[in-house]
Amino acid sequence: MNYYSDAITNLIEEFSRLPGIGAKSAQKLAFHVINMPDDQVEKLAETILTTKKKIHYCKECCTLTDQEICPICASSKRDHSVIMVVENTRDLAAYEKTGKFEGVYHVLHGAISPMIGIGPNDIRLKELITRLQGDVKEIILATNSSLEGETTAMYISKLVKPTGIKITKIASGVPVGGDLEYIDEVTLLRALEGRTEM
Ligand code: ZN
Repeated sequence: MNYYSDAITNLIEEFSRLPGIGAKSAQKLAFHVINMPDDQVEKLAETILTTKKKIHYCKECCTLTDQEICPICASSKRDHSVIMVVENTRDLAAYEKTGKFEGVYHVLHGAISPMIGIGPNDIRLKELITRLQGDVKEIILATNSSLEGETTAMYISKLVKPTGIKITKIASGVPVGGDLEYIDEVTLLRALEGRTEM
């Protein structure tokens, strides 16, 4: 049954599409927005639109950035021959927060998951393979320890092995199924330092 006008119902529906937003939260957000001053709503909508328009993939590492080349890839202080492969920009941020990784990254934007039909061509793998033609000494696999993350790591290691480039995987200090972004810095560093060759 529809208790609200179509416009309100629409707004509630849009909010409920967002991750972590259930029916109750969607209603709360919708009514909050309706009661907000017009200029604040405009600012919110505008920020969402301009952010969405401005942000794209870094030409080198595919992380989300508002520049052509992200600050990490553009930095001469970073070791461009060591590439850490992560699933998303939030995982990159988790390692960046430790301040101890001096290499660069490659962001896949997902992981291989045959169960839900995500194959190698659906993530940024081609871009990684292209980068291997440059001066690369080591690929560090830092995908999540979920089934999808492990599948992706195995797939990449098979692709990289024939090139002779050293390929390592972060240690399993990272709990199974754990998202890198929720893991504390000490654990992340230990996982990085304890990486093993595949
Ligand atoms: Zn980059």
